[in-house]
Amino acid sequence: MKAARGRVAGERKPARGRVAGACARACRAFALVGVASCAGAPPAKPAASGSGGAAEWRFRVEAGPGGRDLAIEAEFGRGSPEELSVSDEGEPFVRGVEVERQGAWIAVAPRGTSWFVPACAARGCRVRYRFALAEAAEALDDFDRAEAFGGEAFVSPPSMWLLRPITAAGPGRVRMHVTTPPGVEFVTGLRPDGDSFSFGVNDVEDSPYSGFGRFRVREVGLEGGERLALAFAPGAFGADDDRIASFLAARAAAVATFYGRFPVERALVVLVPVARRRGVLFGKVRGNGGASIVLLLGKTLREDDLQSDWVAVHEMIHLGFPWLPRRHLWLEEGLATYVEPLIRLRAGLVDEEQVWREFFERMPQGLPREGDQGLDRTPTWGRTYWGGAIFCLLADVEIRKRTGGARSLQDALRGVLRAGGDASAHWGIDETLAAGDAAVGVPVLRELYAAMAERPAPVDLPRLWRELGVRVEGGRARFDDAAPFASVRAGIAGSGRKDGPKAPQVSSE
Ligand SMILES: [Zn+2]
Repeated sequence: MKAARGRVAGERKPARGRVAGACARACRAFALVGVASCAGAPPAKPAASGSGGAAEWRFRVEAGPGGRDLAIEAEFGRGSPEELSVSDEGEPFVRGVEVERQGAWIAVAPRGTSWFVPACAARGCRVRYRFALAEAAEALDDFDRAEAFGGEAFVSPPSMWLLRPITAAGPGRVRMHVTTPPGVEFVTGLRPDGDSFSFGVNDVEDSPYSGFGRFRVREVGLEGGERLALAFAPGAFGADDDRIASFLAARAAAVATFYGRFPVERALVVLVPVARRRGVLFGKVRGNGGASIVLLLGKTLREDDLQSDWVAVHEMIHLGFPWLPRRHLWLEEGLATYVEPLIRLRAGLVDEEQVWREFFERMPQGLPREGDQGLDRTPTWGRTYWGGAIFCLLADVEIRKRTGGARSLQDALRGVLRAGGDASAHWGIDETLAAGDAAVGVPVLRELYAAMAERPAPVDLPRLWRELGVRVEGGRARFDDAAPFASVRAGIAGSGRKDGPKAPQVSSE
């Protein structure tokens, strides 16, 4: 699942990370766990247009004992909008806002859910305040805003606690420096830059998961030099930390094989134990200025739960695709839904029969129902996950057909990634599809998008299965190698020879 909040044009003060639809299995598990719900987000605050200067924002964040409170000093350059705030529902935990004036600190009272500091616009300003993180975590109890684990580790994205000009947008940069007292870790998916963190003004509102407190931290190096920064929240898991680290490294390697490399240089993975539960229960990704995943693991996690897990791969796939506007969430989730079983198949974790049976049985959930519109306009669970997966299957089949089996959706996705489209970046749909099409030399993604984005565009799945030579009988998938596109099916599963007509040479950027 992707914590895509979606940046509606002009929207400036975001709602909390959205749990759109949610992966079916994950969502069920999530609801059972009772950590949070799969309901949609509350509406965002009213939007206003406007953009601030592209000045640099500087934050110095000093965590107090246990990471329970943050003392933060911020500097904004001249021309910054005077209205400061944090993401929705963080405001009550912002305390003691003061602005510096000629060496003295002057209190700034809130007005509604904002603090107005005219000096920011007139000559630039320095403000300081505290953020009551433990209190926020207790009250909000949601790791997309703030949540406490074991009473001594707090997960909260910086959007909640960085007080900032909320009408600012554009190319500005943020530099953040964090200090913690002994025994308190700061963990974050933000990209490190020397002894601080640097990210875009536009990244702040959807910024990666971060946390303060008593995490057990370790780094796992991957073959391509990329790193997983693991942060274990307090408490034991059924499997020990070493085993969980090796499990994640193996899944990361499978994802790297698919993309050609692990999609990001560094990703934070926060591991949270959930009492009285088994298995890998739920995962969620946040990117923008970095990359991060939260994984909820049952405390009684067993070896076979790790073996059969699909969640870690699903979330890592999200790291290799850009952050799109909210209405295209179906493409991000559909991609992860379609590609995850293929990656596990190629890694030998599932077999071909299982993968095609699941596609055969579950893809009809993504077909348009009465009253549905196109994929961009029908944000239901079925259309988001399985409608998006149908789009990806059709794209994969069509790219293979048109290139005589020489290119596939995998090549398109690698092209998007090579062009810089990973989870740390926000992209538009057009540049994303164009980068994918350029990598395979045929405009399949743009054509399919034009056909399916606005209109319901029913898909004849039974015919597609016949062409691919897939049927399900007696609860098992069976294959017909004489079907017209049996070689396409074999290619998708990674077991086919690249036969058929020689594909034209395509250039990749
Ligand atoms: Zn997902």
